[in-house]
Amino acid sequence: MTDFKQERVSELKQEYAKGAISRRDFIRMLTALGVSVSAVGMFSDSALAGEQDKASEPRENYTIVFDPTKCTGCLSCAVACADKFMQEIAPEQAKDSINLEFSRIRPMRFQFVDFVNICQYCELIKWAEGTSQHPCQAVCPTGAIRTVEQGEGKEGYTGMGYMTVDREKCLGIQNCGRCLEVCEEQFGSGISFDPIEGKAQVCTRCGGDPECVKACPEEGALKFMPTLVNGRYYANQPEEAAELLYKKMYNKNRGL
Ligand code: SF4
Ligand code: SF4
Ligand code: SF4
Repeated sequence: MTDFKQERVSELKQEYAKGAISRRDFIRMLTALGVSVSAVGMFSDSALAGEQDKASEPRENYTIVFDPTKCTGCLSCAVACADKFMQEIAPEQAKDSINLEFSRIRPMRFQFVDFVNICQYCELIKWAEGTSQHPCQAVCPTGAIRTVEQGEGKEGYTGMGYMTVDREKCLGIQNCGRCLEVCEEQFGSGISFDPIEGKAQVCTRCGGDPECVKACPEEGALKFMPTLVNGRYYANQPEEAAELLYKKMYNKNRGL
């Protein structure tokens, strides 16, 4: 964190302690500064409730489950993810800025509903579709999307049986984008592209220890839980999911 940011963060902390700004405004201002809540060590009581979600021991065969009734759209998850991967992919730019396009989790705001878009690790069904690969993996012409087994990962980034994109092999959005196409058409948009080289990005579940889950200040909004069903169950096109959520939450159509 730069000196300027540190100074601004301590001013904000004082304002919050005095009650001059609300908790939500405090989080929003941190986000605007490009600082995640977890980085300033605030709200540890609520953020750390639910040991299972926050444990730093990498976990295998877990998934991220999102609760739209608890999400406030504060973007802390996206800041934490972008910060982490920007430091890996573009360390020079990461020294004094954060670009949310590096994030693999995308909070999206629809009218009345916040919806977090993230790869759901959906799988094709072998007996019906011929393979149990992830759809994006199955259509990638260069084999750039792959599963990184436990033991061969990069600590904190990949491994434990989660996916990653090999940046050397990926042809990029300018030349390919097939993974994005298949994901968007059927399951939402778990693939994004970095803003520098346009290479595909997918959630690696941080190799089993997700930063976004740790950064979320709203208890239960993001949970890291054992995978019980094919990710297809959770994978939806964001706009459609927002409509459905609205209907479930308010028992009526948005009427737009
Ligand atoms: S949700 Fe999209 S990115 Fe994730 S596994 Fe499925 S097709 Fe691939
Ligand atoms: S954009 Fe990259 S990861 Fe996606 S299908 Fe093409 S080569 Fe594979
Ligand atoms: S688990 Fe890691 S890679 Fe996936 S969205 Fe969260 S911070 Fe990003």
